[in-house]
Amino acid sequence: MSRSKPLPEGLHLDTLAVRAAVDKSQYGENSEALYLSSSFTQPDSETSARRFAGEEEGYIYSRFTNPTVASMEKRLAALEGMESCIAAASGMGAILLLCMGLLKAGDHVVCSRSVFGSTIKLLAGEFGKFGVQTSFVSQTDIGEWKAAIRPGTRLLFAETPTNPLTEVCDIRALADLAHEAGALLAVDNCFCTPALQQPVKLGADIVVHSGTKYLDGQGRVIAGALCASQSLVKEKFIPVMRSAGITLSPFNAWVVLKGLETLGIRMEAQSLRALELARWLEAHPKVERVYYPGLASHPQHGLAMAQQSGRGGAVLSFDVKGQGADEGRRNAFRVIDATQLLSITANLGDVKSIITQPASTSHGRLTEQQRLEAGIRQNLIRVAVGLEHLDDLKADLARGLDLL
Ligand SMILES: *Cc1c(COP(=O)(O)O)cnc(C)c1O
Repeated sequence: MSRSKPLPEGLHLDTLAVRAAVDKSQYGENSEALYLSSSFTQPDSETSARRFAGEEEGYIYSRFTNPTVASMEKRLAALEGMESCIAAASGMGAILLLCMGLLKAGDHVVCSRSVFGSTIKLLAGEFGKFGVQTSFVSQTDIGEWKAAIRPGTRLLFAETPTNPLTEVCDIRALADLAHEAGALLAVDNCFCTPALQQPVKLGADIVVHSGTKYLDGQGRVIAGALCASQSLVKEKFIPVMRSAGITLSPFNAWVVLKGLETLGIRMEAQSLRALELARWLEAHPKVERVYYPGLASHPQHGLAMAQQSGRGGAVLSFDVKGQGADEGRRNAFRVIDATQLLSITANLGDVKSIITQPASTSHGRLTEQQRLEAGIRQNLIRVAVGLEHLDDLKADLARGLDLL
């Protein structure tokens, strides 16, 4: 390996996003190389023994060490302002790694009721089976979090803003609560990304990512990661990765690595479009209510602006007019089906704008009663705003709204 020039100290996020990586190879490639190799040869047996024993740095086997994956990890850690990062095969793989690394039977977790559905299933279902209990509490009422803490509480898990209602929680207050209880705070930073929100600066210990969303940014690969201190990654997460193999492929890591290069400008441009679209929807006569942290009408607008660099992010939801579940569903479907541009799919974080009805997709496995308790009615539509021209997005939504 030829040494790359060392990066100066104090670089800004936009610079780290295109520059932080492992050293170049002897060929001096300007775009980071994709190392599609399952294993790495060792110069001799003594070196090999030291590397396997962890006494010397060196790539061994791509289940737990690969230079392309390491570049992605280094770049994401730099963007989050954290010491270290470990990539995983998916966002859910990262959350699995988090729980396997930190929890054992008898431990207790406090988690928001509004987090990603599979996170709830993993904690309540899978980890419940192994004797880890989770209390699910209000996203916004810190008193409920406090009341749920008990002697065995090891982890507080938050996601902010949430999907699809964009509820915001106070990261600083949760971090203080966790630390008073001798627990750690993990924050799923999927919706904001480090371009808008760096949870570590507000006291979080671990940042969780689904790289599938904004980090890739163009809807190509499934990926995930945990950012944390070097000691947590080394002592708690790498050993699990080595044994469990929830590994991110070098190819997917490379795609995310390239995606990160445009993260800052994408998040800014997509957030600006989302804000304009939210304002337009809020003024539309066929729209009952808009959920978007960038609007002054959002219940946690002030907190969101302070915590998210003054941006609302790129996901918004809105209730269309409609009495009761049947008419609500019919009207939501009419608006969605009248679009000619927006993609009807349940993903988010793409430069292509996406439209979905949460009640029949992401929240389709809940009962109607559970959905109502979560505030997700049949007339709710979620839009993950991409990079199309705003006038085209408005026209696409107006097609259906004007029919109601
Ligand atoms: C998509 C998502 C996940 C899971 O990520 P995958 O890469 O799909 O496994 C976790 N949290 C949030 C907030 C998500 O949107």
